[in-house]
Amino acid sequence: MKRNTVLITGASRGIGRAAAAAFAENGYDLVLNCLHSASELELFSNDLKKRFPIRTLCCYGDIGDADFVRAMFHQTADFCGGIDILINNAGISHIGLLSDMTYEEWEAILHTNLTSVFLCCKYAIPYMVSQKSGKIINISSDWGLYGASCETAYSATKGGVNAFTKALAKELAPSNIQVNAIAYGVIDTDMNAGLTAEEQERLKEEIPAGYFAKPTEAARFLYQLAQAPNYLTGQVISFDGGWI
Ligand code: NAD
Repeated sequence: MKRNTVLITGASRGIGRAAAAAFAENGYDLVLNCLHSASELELFSNDLKKRFPIRTLCCYGDIGDADFVRAMFHQTADFCGGIDILINNAGISHIGLLSDMTYEEWEAILHTNLTSVFLCCKYAIPYMVSQKSGKIINISSDWGLYGASCETAYSATKGGVNAFTKALAKELAPSNIQVNAIAYGVIDTDMNAGLTAEEQERLKEEIPAGYFAKPTEAARFLYQLAQAPNYLTGQVISFDGGWI
């Protein structure tokens, strides 16, 4: 019998890596993507296969690149027919004044954070429609809901992800495919490694829960959302310790 398969973009570290471990523990086959850390992802994937009776496929490349994504879904079709769950997780941030941002930096963040979501959905949907089932979870941010100073481009991409989620959910609900987004607050990953100890402390004081969630906690919720009843769709759910 075909086992359920989840595709996770940006799975070499942080939230994506923790999500891969959560799905592996629960018996899912994995299609994992990352851009720069091929050997790290390979080691991680081999470790998961030793610990759990699952199959994995690793696809290395830029998730904002149309040719790469098309090829990744061809490989995926050979590997498992098609995926049951798509997690659009890969993302980059950019901190700085908008007036200092170059066009190339703008393009890069748009491609990685938003175009990637379009591309992966485009290629995942036909199989899901044929099965009349599927789940898409887009990884967003509180900044996509509320905006952040010096993170205008990042906020715009995540706001785009949120609107994309709501619109696509309406389009796919008749095919029994759920589309939701998680708007994370602060998760303790490399994305926040640039914060000084003092900045981290100040930020923690603003968060009612008083801490940055670990990637495992973020991944636990992600896994649970993937198990939610089908009627839950088109939602952008904050996971932020009561921050905003
Ligand atoms: P991270 O920097 O630890 O990991 C990002 C992952 O994305 C890595 O595996 C990296 O290889 C991959 N990646 C980056 N660019 C890529 C590309 N072009 N093609 C393929 N893979 C690429 O970040 P994280 O904190 O785990 O973030 C994961 C997601 O969560 C992102 O979408 C981020 O915007 C979102 N998020 C994070 C936080 C946070 O506080 N960490 C808060 C809100 C939202």
